[in-house]
Amino acid sequence: MPPTATLEAIKAHQSKVEKDKITPDNLPPCPRCSVESQFFKIHAYRERRFLIIIEMLIKAAYCSLVRFRCPGCGKTFTDYPDFAIPHKHYTRLSITGFSANYVESENMTYQQAVMVDNSAPGYPESDSTDAPTLAPTTIHRWITTLSSFTQTCRTALILLLQENPVSSICRDLARLIIPQRKYKTKQRKKQLIGCRQLVIIEAFFQATFKTSIFTKLAMRCAFN
Ligand SMILES: [Zn+2]
Repeated sequence: MPPTATLEAIKAHQSKVEKDKITPDNLPPCPRCSVESQFFKIHAYRERRFLIIIEMLIKAAYCSLVRFRCPGCGKTFTDYPDFAIPHKHYTRLSITGFSANYVESENMTYQQAVMVDNSAPGYPESDSTDAPTLAPTTIHRWITTLSSFTQTCRTALILLLQENPVSSICRDLARLIIPQRKYKTKQRKKQLIGCRQLVIIEAFFQATFKTSIFTKLAMRCAFN
């Protein structure tokens, strides 16, 4: 079972929000008027529902995300804790974990990618919705999303090579192949490779800097 963000991590973020401990420092400068993020002001608190998977059950957990506003032009920016990916309800650990299982396997189908010990994580009966279990198409979409963080990956790669110029990471990235049965279009092939590269870069980044590329770097790159 791929890991999930814990309820404790989500509660810890909520507690930081309530104690006014969330700062705009990790956000990039305003792309419109170049004001540095440290000058951003708090604009709003928005409650977000996250889905975490505990013992094969999908459970909702809530916390607030802080939106900041550029004093120069009024553009707003959301601060994301490291368990959150923009526009996704599932947490970063589930998204990267299930996606990595799929892209790193030779033969796995999307149907198999959602299965853990012969069943897919589901919603408790009392809370059932029209999507009773984690859907194969969800993994397909997660891979598309992860493949879009190209600037984040490039920046992470530069930092890794600065830290260790003889790292094997470039060889590992260049060696990647995706089995032909996994795609029908060139675009999908590119997305699968992009996602697999992110998985490798994240692993090197964790090993080198003891933190995720999603902790600060992805936000700094505006999730591009
Ligand atoms: Zn601005």
